[in-house]
Amino acid sequence: MDFRSRRRFLQLTGIAGAGFLNGCRLLSKNNINAQVVVVGGGFAGATAAKYIRLLDANIKVILIEPKAQYITCPGSNWLFADLLKIENLTVNYQALSQQYGITVICDAVARIDCEQKRLLLENQQSLAYDRLVLAPGIDFRWDTLEGYDQATAQVFPHAWQAGPQTLQLQQQMQAMRNGDVALICVPAEPYRCPPGPYERASMMAYWLQQHKPKSKLLILDAKTGFSKQKLFEAGWAKSFGYGTSNSIIEWHSLADNPLQHLDVKTKTLSTYFGDKIQAQVLNIIPPQQAGSIARQTGLTDASGWCPVNPLTSQSRIQEHIHIIGDAANYAPIPKSAFAANSEAKTCAMTVVSLLNQQPLPDAHWLNTCYSLITPQYGISVAGVYKLNAEHTIEAVKGAGGLSSLKDPESSRLEAAYAQSVYQTLLKDSFS
Ligand code: FAD
Repeated sequence: MDFRSRRRFLQLTGIAGAGFLNGCRLLSKNNINAQVVVVGGGFAGATAAKYIRLLDANIKVILIEPKAQYITCPGSNWLFADLLKIENLTVNYQALSQQYGITVICDAVARIDCEQKRLLLENQQSLAYDRLVLAPGIDFRWDTLEGYDQATAQVFPHAWQAGPQTLQLQQQMQAMRNGDVALICVPAEPYRCPPGPYERASMMAYWLQQHKPKSKLLILDAKTGFSKQKLFEAGWAKSFGYGTSNSIIEWHSLADNPLQHLDVKTKTLSTYFGDKIQAQVLNIIPPQQAGSIARQTGLTDASGWCPVNPLTSQSRIQEHIHIIGDAANYAPIPKSAFAANSEAKTCAMTVVSLLNQQPLPDAHWLNTCYSLITPQYGISVAGVYKLNAEHTIEAVKGAGGLSSLKDPESSRLEAAYAQSVYQTLLKDSFS
């Protein structure tokens, strides 16, 4: 996508948002007294709760989230380049409760009774629902690398759920000696935010270049390639000498020689063929699966993710439960906050239509994902998705695309867009 069409795309997504609302206010014709419970107050759940209320103020919406404050993963990599503080990534649920009349309960759901359409909170409160929207995000798989488990992750933080682990990883990086090695282990797909590990590598390299220029950052990848690879590599070549012997960043595919074992004491990783890789800072991002409440309720399949009917966002296992965000399988749409927000809006329209016994809306989705290579160098990927005749999701040909490799001016502007898209998304989801 060239630069002008990128701006046009962003304009269109903004207009689509407004049009979406105007059209949908028509839905609130009936005086229904339905109760929708939304589980999980991340980008998916918060957006769904807000838009259901915007579409039909007669529906009572209860949002359940254990954390009083939510720290966004988008933007959390920027911490490693000292571009912001964690407070800048922190939101609360006041606007959702005060502006939109959503009942926000600060607790976790312990159990879902699909037969009775009830759920039980950790504090033992029981709640009934007419429709349940489930958006619990991700959990990690701890059984894939010998020596690495939940306890070890406290020492070698994954920082793949933004918060204390992000700060811990930042402190570890800052405590490195000049010449030390840091590494990032990237899992196979699907995982949350496909370009996220490479943006993290960029932000760390940017900081190391200024403060510990003799240090190296290794990316050990379970894949043979990665999202926005050409754009990242061009940016790394320009900014960090990638491809030369002086490069701060090195990327290694371990697809044919996977990591097998972590020796915690010596901070050494061993591969299948016996290679040993030692580093002073180890950021191991484990493979992922749907949040535990989804698995516990039997809503996942063998992949570990929740299968859904994309037209309605209904679980293929329990049809009165709608599942959105990272926990659900909307492939080929990647797991991102932008996509979670888009899935939530489609889901909100569906839930309101079903409760009002109105025809279902057409389903379509958007995703865009910006990454910073340096504070002045941004890149992005965008996609528009629709249902095809087989009722599976496909990318709309000719819509979306990647940043231009040829236009040096665009990378500076894309860096600015990265900030503004983040702010817009945050506002649209939480206020
Ligand atoms: P989450 O945001 O994880 O929210 C799930 C919520 O559910 C949590 O708050 C959790 O507390 C709650 N929950 C879980 N279980 C229960 C329960 N039993 N009861 C009640 N509540 C529960 N995406 C982008 O679009 N752009 C980016 O630039 C970007 N950058 C990223 C950078 C990093 C480093 C990472 C890790 C991710 C990034 N992402 C980005 C991806 C994005 O963070 C996720 O895709 C997004 O957060 C998914 O939203 P979600 O609501 O599905 O899950």
